[in-house]
Amino acid sequence: MKSLKQRNMPENTYNTIIVGGGIAGLTSAAYLARAGQKVLLIEKNRECGGLVNSFTRDGFHFDAGVRALEDAGIIFAMLKDLKIQLEVVKSPVSLGIENEILHIEDISSLVKYRDLLTKLFPESKREIGKVVKIIRKIMKHMDVLYGIENPVFKDLRRDRNFIFKKLLPWLPKFIFTVGKINRMNIPVEEYLKTIVKNPSLRDIISQHFFKNTPTFFALSYFSLYLDYFYPKGGVGQLSEALKNKITECGGEIKTETKIIEVLAEKCLVKDQNNIHYKYENLIWAADLKTLYKIIVTEGLSPGIKTKVEETKNKFLINRGGDSVFSLFLEVDEPLDSFRKIAHGHFFYTPSKLGLAETHREELNYLLSNFEKVEKEQIFAWLEKFTRLNTYEISVPGLKDPELVPHGKTGIIISFLAEYDLFNKIQEAGWIDEFISEFENRVLNVISESVYPILKDKIIAAFSFTPLSIENRVGSSEGAITGWAFQKSMPVINKIQFSGRSVLTPIPSIYQAGQWAYSPAGVPMSILTGKIAADRVLK
Ligand SMILES: Cc1cc2nc3c(=O)[nH]c(=O)nc-3n(C[C@H](O)[C@H](O)[C@H](O)COP(=O)(O)OP(=O)(O)OC[C@H]3O[C@@H](n4cnc5c(N)ncnc54)[C@H](O)[C@@H]3O)c2cc1C
Repeated sequence: MKSLKQRNMPENTYNTIIVGGGIAGLTSAAYLARAGQKVLLIEKNRECGGLVNSFTRDGFHFDAGVRALEDAGIIFAMLKDLKIQLEVVKSPVSLGIENEILHIEDISSLVKYRDLLTKLFPESKREIGKVVKIIRKIMKHMDVLYGIENPVFKDLRRDRNFIFKKLLPWLPKFIFTVGKINRMNIPVEEYLKTIVKNPSLRDIISQHFFKNTPTFFALSYFSLYLDYFYPKGGVGQLSEALKNKITECGGEIKTETKIIEVLAEKCLVKDQNNIHYKYENLIWAADLKTLYKIIVTEGLSPGIKTKVEETKNKFLINRGGDSVFSLFLEVDEPLDSFRKIAHGHFFYTPSKLGLAETHREELNYLLSNFEKVEKEQIFAWLEKFTRLNTYEISVPGLKDPELVPHGKTGIIISFLAEYDLFNKIQEAGWIDEFISEFENRVLNVISESVYPILKDKIIAAFSFTPLSIENRVGSSEGAITGWAFQKSMPVINKIQFSGRSVLTPIPSIYQAGQWAYSPAGVPMSILTGKIAADRVLK
């Protein structure tokens, strides 16, 4: 239902406009609409959700972006606060290396993980013990960090029970934990070198994380594996639920509308059809390089103009983090055949050798000498890359059997991939051949190792590359969690300062989502979406 405020403004004029209908923008819009503001959410695609999205093909449901969700004390708190009902199931994780597969059930699985690594690397038993000890410590910190519902989603003026029973006892532990986290900020690759001598073992522990992931974040993954859940009907149901909330609260959503100019002084945004929309506040919940490329600062004060220029330069010289390649398979084989092997969310490494320099030095060589290298060299590299990599394998039907036609299985196989490689090959004119080589090799590796049942059972196969991600969500370098990890990050990267992550140099413009805070992901996108909405309401 529309509030008085929502009804009484001129056409195309809004209290707040939100650009980007990913999970961050949806969160901001839901909160602002609920507060009675006249809100417009603008999304360039036909559907909202961005990287929290599901789609159907030939009766198979697939998740286009994130494969399962981690609560992190944020998602359920947000749903509860907005009174959104979402039916969810646990999304248990399996870890596999060569023929060894471990089903993670609870914290005691960490011991089994230690045993699995020791079986594969018996000479490194002591070092593995040390790593597992550190993971256990980090898990305790994670219990504190996500131990209560995030206070940002609580009404701290009214909920005295929460303040006295939960927040106040938690705060000292939180401050202590934050100190510990900040001390474990060095890249996980470097950190592991100080404990583990065997490079293959280091790779097996860390190669499925983004380049230079801070140690705390990487080694906290065991906790996150236990936290994963899955909305019935697919991950995209979370976005659907928020979208429904926005319209239920009188908010407006305009899809297939791309913002191509922001006129900051006039408080206007312009879409691809030259239609202008006026705002009092703007929340930019999309790629930040794009914002600074299309913003017009004419008429703003010289001080603000300088700050905008400085921020623009800072953003433009930084890169988005790793992207991802996803292979989608429609398989003529029942779910049970896959259930016997691993859970529906599975991290699998077919070779314990590890990637070593394949995805760093060797790839860098190919990229820097791209004009000189032969196609065959790239294919030889691809062969190694696909044999030594770690795969994230998702079987939506094992989480919700309604998501596949009877007797069949849909599978998504993905891994981190370098945007520049795909971009250069596209420019060189043989991207389709490269993608098809990629798909065949991934399929060979997986069907020769963990899923021999795949052989001759594929009904259809198609893939999304880093270029598809760039095209679809307008994400620089096809990044899926914002900025690449570097010594000096262009956005806030300390949890105690997250309240400032949404600020931009222009007082009426806020930022939210994967580009606003690092390390990012679904929970932080939701958190920044809420913080931005709170700033507007202040
Ligand atoms: C394969 C995969 C696995 C992942 N795994 C995890 C995981 O395990 N855990 C985790 O936390 N995260 C994971 N993520 C990352 C997570 O999905 C994203 O970080 C998060 O969804 C980002 O949300 P967002 O709203 O900030 O941005 P986006 O989802 O990128 O949304 C931005 C929206 O803005 C729109 N837009 C862009 N430009 C314009 C414009 N000019 N005008 C109008 N609209 C525009 C886009 O179309 C898009 O809908 C994964 C992602 C992928 C792809």
